[in-house]
Amino acid sequence: MKSISIIGSGLGGLSAAIRLAHNGYNVTVYEKNSYPGGKAGSVNIDGFRFDTGPSLLTMPFVIEELFSSVNENASDYLEFNKLKNLCRYFFFDGTMLNAYSDLIKFENEIAAKTIESPGTLKKFLEYCKTIYNLTSDIFLFSDLYSAKTYTNLKAFKTLFKLPKIDSFRTLNEANRSFFKDEKLIQLFNRYATYNGSNPYKCPATLNIISHVECSLGGYYLSGGMHSLTKAMYALAIKKGVKFEFNCPIEKIIINGKKVKGIIAAGKEIPSDIVISNADVFQTYGDLLNDNTSSAAKRYLKLEPSSSALVFYWGVNINSEKLDTHNILFSKDYEKEFSELFDKKIFPEDPTVYIYISSKFSPNDAPAGKENWFVMINAPNTHTASPEKGSKPTKGARSGGADYIKQTILNRIKSFTGYDISGKIECEKIMTPQDIETQTGSFGGSIYGISSNSSNAAFLRQANASKQYRGLYFTGGSAHPGGGIPLVILSGKIAAEKIIDNN
Ligand SMILES: Cc1cc2nc3c(=O)[nH]c(=O)nc-3n(C[C@H](O)[C@H](O)[C@H](O)COP(=O)(O)OP(=O)(O)OC[C@H]3O[C@@H](n4cnc5c(N)ncnc54)[C@H](O)[C@@H]3O)c2cc1C
Repeated sequence: MKSISIIGSGLGGLSAAIRLAHNGYNVTVYEKNSYPGGKAGSVNIDGFRFDTGPSLLTMPFVIEELFSSVNENASDYLEFNKLKNLCRYFFFDGTMLNAYSDLIKFENEIAAKTIESPGTLKKFLEYCKTIYNLTSDIFLFSDLYSAKTYTNLKAFKTLFKLPKIDSFRTLNEANRSFFKDEKLIQLFNRYATYNGSNPYKCPATLNIISHVECSLGGYYLSGGMHSLTKAMYALAIKKGVKFEFNCPIEKIIINGKKVKGIIAAGKEIPSDIVISNADVFQTYGDLLNDNTSSAAKRYLKLEPSSSALVFYWGVNINSEKLDTHNILFSKDYEKEFSELFDKKIFPEDPTVYIYISSKFSPNDAPAGKENWFVMINAPNTHTASPEKGSKPTKGARSGGADYIKQTILNRIKSFTGYDISGKIECEKIMTPQDIETQTGSFGGSIYGISSNSSNAAFLRQANASKQYRGLYFTGGSAHPGGGIPLVILSGKIAAEKIIDNN
């Protein structure tokens, strides 16, 4: 039986491990941390529990498929709950708008609180659905780089309908052509951040994300998002996957362009096949010591996704004005993205995201209190440490995390009326540098590679290396990209390639 070493226990690594162990391979996952799940982690502080990374689940059918593919029922491990309100949005002009998952209620909310014409949302979501239907089979569910993908009729037809996928306009341009109310343009531009991209640069094809959330639904898991990591880890153990924690892999051994194994603590571990769930930048640069092959050179030119600065606050409050997911928008969205991607600095006036899992999972906070996950988008850069006041210029960027924290607290007070500064009972901060240190993602990127160009989807690392026989990739920086459903799909595509090739 062939031996497979998987570097990293992120959700992409676990997805591949489960499927391959079920198919009879001898699978060992090597993880540098003491826990599985990578970015999809959890932390307990003073009676509060926080999801450290992902907070919103979309495309739950991808998880159901993972479980059913190995003869298990996801519902025996996880409870999926559809959000009634996808997100509560607060705008600079004082408007509060709920994005209900019931589209008639959402239309009514738009009619009551914006100047938008009736029917625009429906028209827009039909357009988003068309793009999803045309692209998802090729760009999400298949190996983009295999000729086999294009032999089915649907994929073949897509090739002739390429203009319909709207890849030549930016997301902002397309959204502006549908909506006249600036609030709705900002709201739908925000979906670019679901894969760490800039709505003023990424192709309008990314409007598939609006379809995925608004039409297919946003979900939470009972017990919080970390339940997914726990469920996938339990399933991997059940299928016979072995885990080595606290085990950083130093090198992938290559002999004559063929993978021979990996090195941990200076010791060689022979393997027939290696799957890297580590960031692709790290895989080429550190693990393969390859900055010169054509694949490495091509990959190293790509633009990583944005990062995040997250405050985990245990708050002595019962915030009736807030929902599970809340966005407090900046005044000038274009300036915010220019600071993030062009200037690579922390935005002076950041959009603030607040996720409160204790709204649906009361055990996540002591009675009468709440666990606030408060996040702003942050630049992707090795020097993006707010403590060090990286790139000190002016305003919120010069004083480090404390200054940014004060900006966020002021925003929360002015938008919601809650002055929580004296009510924060415990605090943990995660910076881009922490994300990079903890999960190995380049510059703290949270979604791997950004989609800030019309060809980015084609440039991601393929799940099977063309350069090195026996080397495969899974995770946010490989095809089809970042976010929970996509990394689980990347594990599926990598596992299928291995089964096909062996
Ligand atoms: C703050 C934040 C918010 C997010 N919000 C959402 C959201 O709401 N919805 C959503 O769908 N997605 C969200 N995401 C993205 C999502 O979490 C990721 O796309 C996904 O979890 C990444 O999975 P992955 O397989 O790429 O592995 P990762 O989570 O990146 O894990 C890689 C693993 O490999 C290990 N590793 C790396 N190098 C080595 C080595 N040399 N040796 C051994 N082990 C190694 C790391 O320690 C890590 O455990 C968010 C991410 C963050 C950080």
